[in-house]
Amino acid sequence: MRSELVIHLSKLDGNIQALKSRLNKNVKVMAVIKDNAYGHGAVPIAKHLSSKVDWFCVATIEEGIELRNADINNPILIFEAPRLELVSNYIQFGLTATVSDLSDFEILKEGTEYQINFDTGMRRLGIPFDEREKALERFKTYSKLNCTGIYTHFASADEPHNKSVFEQLEKFKIIKKLFPDSLMAHTANTGAIFHYRDADLQFDAVRAGVCLYGYAAGETDISDLKSIVEWNSFVMQTRPIRKGESVGYGGSWIAPEDGVVGTVPVGYGDGVQRILSNKFQVKINGQKVQQVGRISMDYFGIYGSKALIGKGDKVTIFDGESLNPKQWASLANTIPYEITTSFNKKIERQYLLKK
Ligand SMILES: *Cc1c(COP(=O)(O)O)cnc(C)c1O
Repeated sequence: MRSELVIHLSKLDGNIQALKSRLNKNVKVMAVIKDNAYGHGAVPIAKHLSSKVDWFCVATIEEGIELRNADINNPILIFEAPRLELVSNYIQFGLTATVSDLSDFEILKEGTEYQINFDTGMRRLGIPFDEREKALERFKTYSKLNCTGIYTHFASADEPHNKSVFEQLEKFKIIKKLFPDSLMAHTANTGAIFHYRDADLQFDAVRAGVCLYGYAAGETDISDLKSIVEWNSFVMQTRPIRKGESVGYGGSWIAPEDGVVGTVPVGYGDGVQRILSNKFQVKINGQKVQQVGRISMDYFGIYGSKALIGKGDKVTIFDGESLNPKQWASLANTIPYEITTSFNKKIERQYLLKK
């Protein structure tokens, strides 16, 4: 094994608690586990959460089928617009489709359960606000389909006090008035749940994604969310290096003193962004050690004293504390979502219930 991701399910439970403590009464939890549960492994995460949340949400119909094949029985909402060649799968696997365009009504098979996504300002998927009356007509016309909800998605809820959230919310409320009250309504992602508790936007359910894995949306820290992932590898090889010698492609790093370079069998092919070259640290025996040289496809280098780095030593890339995807995200000028979804599927994953 070259490296292993350890997913702490007890921390996942803690994050669920943190989430639930922010919810109004009777608001359901839709756990967003798209993209392999943001890289953590959709099936094991779904199995652990199935009794603790109400719904699951995924991006694609293939992801929904994967969950059904793993005996996940919760309702599952598919975010993508229906793809013509796959529409019979919604019924076959008991998956809830999303209608994102007026034309989607025409392609769904009779009896398909669906929810309508309205575009109130995200401008990605969804029926535009201006077509809400037409959507209502189709909803009535296509009575052999089974509509169970309406929803929208915020563009900027990761920032507290962003006025576009309120503008989108007002539009959604206008849409909601047109449709029967019996339909479930939902708008909130992590940002909306944690930053907009006082705005009346939770309705019947929330779609919680990144908070499950321990991160706030945006820059703000939320103290009761804990990163659930630990990442361990080992020193595959060591060699002495002299002051002035370089390490890795392009010789981008030069040793300031004599020391030891260790090679860790993890690279950008595993999900260590190459832009992090020479920027991050790992831990060996509790000590922080600098990553040096360009990150290559399957390896990165570390540098320290002979006493610090030995062949076979355990290398902790993420410790769930100060070394974590959020820290990498700020070093790489991106968001934790991109760091964790980059974990290659080939990496072994272990799911631990106790600390
Ligand atoms: C990804 C996604 C979410 C979850 O967003 P987070 O910021 O991770 O909580 C919710 N709704 C939709 C439509 C999404 O695509």
